[in-house]
Amino acid sequence: MKKPKYIFVVGGVMSGVGKGITTASIAKILEGRGFRVSPIKIDPYLNVDAGTMNPTEHGEVFVLDSGLECDQDMGNYERFLGRSLPTENYMTNGMVFKHVIDKERALGYKGKCVEPVYHITEEIVRRIDASVKKTKPNISIIEIGGTVGEYQNAIFIEAARMLELKNPGDVLFVMVSYLPIPGKIGEMKTKPTQTAIRTLNSYGVHPDIIIARSDVPLDEKRKEKIADSNGVPKDRVISAPDIDSIYDVPVNFEKDGLGNLVLKLFDLKPKQKDLIDWRRMLRKLHGAKKEVRIAVVGKYFKTGDFILSDVYISVLESLKHAAYSLNRRPVIDWIDAETYEKNPKKLKELEQYHGILVPGGFGGRGVEGIISVINYARKNKIPYFGLCYGMQLMVVEYARNACRLRDAHTAEVKPKTKHVVIDILPEQKDLLRKNDMGGTMRLGGYPAKLKKGTVAEGAYKATTIRERHRHRYEVNPEYIVLLEDKGLVFSGVSPNKKLMEIAELPKKEHPFFLGVQFHPEFRTSPTEPHPLFCEFVNACAKRENRSKTGQPRAGKK
Ligand code: GLN
Repeated sequence: MKKPKYIFVVGGVMSGVGKGITTASIAKILEGRGFRVSPIKIDPYLNVDAGTMNPTEHGEVFVLDSGLECDQDMGNYERFLGRSLPTENYMTNGMVFKHVIDKERALGYKGKCVEPVYHITEEIVRRIDASVKKTKPNISIIEIGGTVGEYQNAIFIEAARMLELKNPGDVLFVMVSYLPIPGKIGEMKTKPTQTAIRTLNSYGVHPDIIIARSDVPLDEKRKEKIADSNGVPKDRVISAPDIDSIYDVPVNFEKDGLGNLVLKLFDLKPKQKDLIDWRRMLRKLHGAKKEVRIAVVGKYFKTGDFILSDVYISVLESLKHAAYSLNRRPVIDWIDAETYEKNPKKLKELEQYHGILVPGGFGGRGVEGIISVINYARKNKIPYFGLCYGMQLMVVEYARNACRLRDAHTAEVKPKTKHVVIDILPEQKDLLRKNDMGGTMRLGGYPAKLKKGTVAEGAYKATTIRERHRHRYEVNPEYIVLLEDKGLVFSGVSPNKKLMEIAELPKKEHPFFLGVQFHPEFRTSPTEPHPLFCEFVNACAKRENRSKTGQPRAGKK
């Protein structure tokens, strides 16, 4: 295999300015030129994976096909590139340290003094090599989480520097920085970026390219200032202003010639033209005028006074992908399920939506509110899509109200109830007893068989599918016959027929009432929207807007 090139993406000034989207976009641009690019995410925290973190702490937990629970940026990479990435493309400080410490305890270092530099850095480079071996890229692009100057990512920057020493000419550093325009001053300031560059210099690393994030495009003067302070030509400062859609970012970078610049610095020649499919998708995205209004009902939406739609970023993006492909502009409201527990009369507000989606979740808070929403959607024939917990609670609702098992519930909330229609997986019982919670759910891709003539089969146009999971509970097999007798169809089941993967009502009963035990939102891209999301949004688009007010309720779009 030919030696790959490496691009390290680091952050300057502050976090949250779009390193992940930048990394995904650079990868996309280079793939558009015919190179195979493999993105790696490094998270500097000590958690071994993202699975045990509360989503309000860290945003969505993304799940790879392998079952690894990781950072939402891996979702961005997969969505931009339209393919699955392996476990090898993700690491945390926790993973790296755990490996080195376990190896030391097993005498793997043969009596040596084990130190952060060299042994931790060596392990980081070994992991990058393992990803290269697995994915065989022309270019490996590695995003180092956090901001330069933080203690916890310094070790990764040191590993990157070592990798550059061993591969001179094959490594580029890209710094994603931020240029504030303080309200009172009204002028775009370059100083924080200059300081961030100097901090990176103090690690022995010089940024080759600066991605300058700001509210508005950079003028020539700011570009010159940054270029001068960094000692690089002006064309290495790329303007990255705020834009409407993250999917515009690759095309926007190209306006400043980022693709050609990277190829020139690596001395590579483009192998093919451009992002043809991507540009076609963008035309649709920007052309969509007619609204489709969807309510996402769940929890984890708030932190202090702020709404956290990041917690369900894959759900949001999946809805967008499907809507754009159907020439619709998605308007999405986040509704806290507890609203309906406190005030059931508010359920009527749901009339104004074209569809309702309940995403995954854990624990008892807001559950009765969600169940009443599902009941409302079923009775009033509002398209309903339930993901994981949203499917389990759909089964609870059906058992209570259609099968007349009034005390039906999930063991997660009420384990001692008479009718436990959603129960714990047998192999999970032991783990819970041992308090072994990290990375131990049913995780990752599993196959399912679809029943002919069902909504699911019609959407997928396939009889076998593979989807990603993240849950401990399942439909209790003891209730399947009763639920089916009363009209619920299990249209997707595991190959051994034991696990119910999709539940639905037939089309003649309801325009769309379907829940999935898995997470389809982890397998979609803007150029290839997920078939179930398309089927759902299509049903939403068909629903006549019966809103009395004509206006969607206020909330974050
Ligand atoms: N809490 C449920 C379970 O563990 C659903 C999980 C989810 O929605 N991801 O089975």
